[in-house]
Amino acid sequence: MYRVLIVKITSIDRSVINEITNHLSQLGFHVDVLSQIEHINISYFDWQRSQYDAEKILEYVSSKFDKFPYDAIIAIGEIDAYARGLNFVFGLSTKKFGTVFLVRLKNDFYKKKCNFELFIERVKKEVTHELGHTLGLGHCSNPTCVMRFSNSIAEVDNKSASFCEECRAKLNINNKS
Ligand SMILES: [Zn+2]
Ligand SMILES: [Zn+2]
Repeated sequence: MYRVLIVKITSIDRSVINEITNHLSQLGFHVDVLSQIEHINISYFDWQRSQYDAEKILEYVSSKFDKFPYDAIIAIGEIDAYARGLNFVFGLSTKKFGTVFLVRLKNDFYKKKCNFELFIERVKKEVTHELGHTLGLGHCSNPTCVMRFSNSIAEVDNKSASFCEECRAKLNINNKS
């Protein structure tokens, strides 16, 4: 079974963390949550863009948790972030390390009515998507697969929170659990 560590880089509501943990457990992962918040350096914030630099956060998380005995370590923060050449990213990953940024998963960012359940669905999808990347999966062309590339909130809403059969087979989840 793959071992996943969730790291909070800002304070995050306990119910959100619980939903993530339950979802990943249901998909067949072993999930731990680091109890303390791993605060990120303010120098990763770009004052002109009012966004964090996702690459710097990912780099920091990778070096800080390098020796931790997990298959995947996902840092989650209630912030907005960008990466080179992109106006924003919902998340960014390399092998073993991933990040997910929550601000653009909330309806109020788009001046729409708050919808907690919808927000939770989006969080599950993005965390699962980045987790897939950390374990070596690329983007998937199956329209409902969680590994489908999503560049807008509508695209996030259109996919499911689970891996398609093909991606599951690549991850070897069935055999590992
Ligand atoms: Zn992706
Ligand atoms: Zn897939």
